[in-house]
Amino acid sequence: MAGLDPEDWSGIRAMGHQMLDALFDRMEHVGEGPVWRPMPQAARDELRTGFPAEGTSLEELHERFTELVVPYGNGNTHPGFMGWVHGAGTPVGMLAEMLAGGMNANCGGRSHAANEVEREVIRWALSMVGMPEDGSGCLVTGSSMANFISIITASRARDPLLRRHGVGQSRMVGYAATTAHGCLPRAYDLAGFGSEALRRVPVTGDHRMDLAALRQMITEDRQSGLVPFMVAGTAGTVDCGAIDDLQGIEAIARENGLWFHVDAAFGALACLSSRFKAQLSGIEKADSLAFDFHKWAQVPYDAGCVLVRNRELHAAAFAQSLDYLTREARGLASGAPWFCDFGPDLSRGFRALKVWMTLGHYGSQRMGQMVEECCDVAQHLARCVQATPGLVLLAPVTLNIVCFGIEGLSDQGVSELVQDLHESGVAAPSTTRINGRLAVRAAIVNHRTTTVDTDRMLDAVIALAADRRG
Ligand SMILES: *Cc1c(COP(=O)(O)O)cnc(C)c1O
Repeated sequence: MAGLDPEDWSGIRAMGHQMLDALFDRMEHVGEGPVWRPMPQAARDELRTGFPAEGTSLEELHERFTELVVPYGNGNTHPGFMGWVHGAGTPVGMLAEMLAGGMNANCGGRSHAANEVEREVIRWALSMVGMPEDGSGCLVTGSSMANFISIITASRARDPLLRRHGVGQSRMVGYAATTAHGCLPRAYDLAGFGSEALRRVPVTGDHRMDLAALRQMITEDRQSGLVPFMVAGTAGTVDCGAIDDLQGIEAIARENGLWFHVDAAFGALACLSSRFKAQLSGIEKADSLAFDFHKWAQVPYDAGCVLVRNRELHAAAFAQSLDYLTREARGLASGAPWFCDFGPDLSRGFRALKVWMTLGHYGSQRMGQMVEECCDVAQHLARCVQATPGLVLLAPVTLNIVCFGIEGLSDQGVSELVQDLHESGVAAPSTTRINGRLAVRAAIVNHRTTTVDTDRMLDAVIALAADRRG
């Protein structure tokens, strides 16, 4: 026997078919049972076997997976899941993950077909948001990384010497609304500028960036010797799904010579719906854009995407020339530029296949329709909230996120009610703070969630609230 391959291929083949059947069974019945259940300590303990010296049979490992892992999932594949911003996956994406595993491609570079699939997926993404086809991009873990890559690209475009000399005592600053996702200040932190180099612009009553305030902050910062280099708009804020005035932000960015970035982590998918096109107008002018295929596009985790308008500037921020990574004119080492030129990763998996298969299978029309269906469910939920005494809608429903308060309960009470709801297994919304008040937050990112599920969630909330009020 040579290497790690099985001696008995027919045995592993039979086992593989069994695993696949078990997966399909689970997916077909994904809505049965609780959304989530806590993993008992006994199950956690059972997982802690230590690194075994002797191998374990695949049968036994699969059994342990079925007993110890599958029942205690994240819940995001279940239609009752409405928390945070999670995609729900599809059977198509699941199969694509398996096929990609079989290829075991390394998409950091070189000349092979998996990279061509990724290039095609990037062209689809550029066309979805209306950016020029000669832009660049790559698939990454998620929007946190995509936003980080954008900030690195923008700052190196402003000052190429940063790559050699570091940020030092840089006075470079960027802007985003107070509602921007926490990964943006973290990206400024990781990039060495410090999280305070991301200046937070207040929002107006409609939860969108206050453009007059943005203008004033840029002027004042310049006067005090700071160096503004970028502004980030959000298309679909994580708290309530608001869409910043991207046209307006772009105009201010151009007036001031700033890089215009858009965090469209989930909102980008709304570009596939004619209903939301107007509200997203300006997204196509982005210098860089971060979004996720693993959220509203329902591709299995993980699959984020960064797009950059100017491919030279993108490569200028990351590309290196190294003796052991020489690019040739032909042979396996050809095919430059390589994806490792567009981000910090050298070894990269074949994420593109699950994106290509999911989007390719459903097509842009069906995906746009699914986005609209999620928004319809959100509108239904918002109407039910408004029609229910004791519940109050706390923010307008722009896309797919509904935030509501519960009268007669303190913030602590609302927080505990949501924890009770999770433990009941009925539904899993999350919470956020809207204008200082704790809100129950239902984000309908899940293509399986219907009005039946939001009704069930709301009934449970009403019952739990009545119990708490006493
Ligand atoms: C989810 C989200 C992010 C972070 O994306 P990850 O894929 O979780 O890294 C950033 N911005 C917004 C608006 C988001 O909703």
